[in-house]
Amino acid sequence: MNILELFRKNHECQHAKIAPDKDVSYCPDCGELIENQWYITRCACCGVKLKSIIKNGEVMPQEHFCHNCGAKQYTVERVNKINFIDINYAVLLKVVVKPEVDELTQSWIDTEEHVHAKNLIGLNI
Ligand SMILES: [Zn+2]
Ligand SMILES: [Zn+2]
Repeated sequence: MNILELFRKNHECQHAKIAPDKDVSYCPDCGELIENQWYITRCACCGVKLKSIIKNGEVMPQEHFCHNCGAKQYTVERVNKINFIDINYAVLLKVVVKPEVDELTQSWIDTEEHVHAKNLIGLNI
């Protein structure tokens, strides 16, 4: 198996049957526990919400600059509860949750996620 095949295999399931309104549910296609994570992007300058896309696994604004003030910097925010206003701006990431993690691993994941989110914001300001 070459690297490309491995890549395809890992990215084969899009978990398309997971309903976006569920927080977590099992994917009927691959059996993984999937968490729906919503993200929006905001202008780092004026704070207006920007239409978001996922590119190369990263959340970013669709436009390269703010439609309100023209700034190029943006921040990425996790949205815990999506509402019908934010849904127009948000992107949905379907993240595989490993259910067998123990408490120690769980807190490590939380920290990593926190650091990652901070890095994203830090990078783009
Ligand atoms: Zn799946
Ligand atoms: Zn702006």
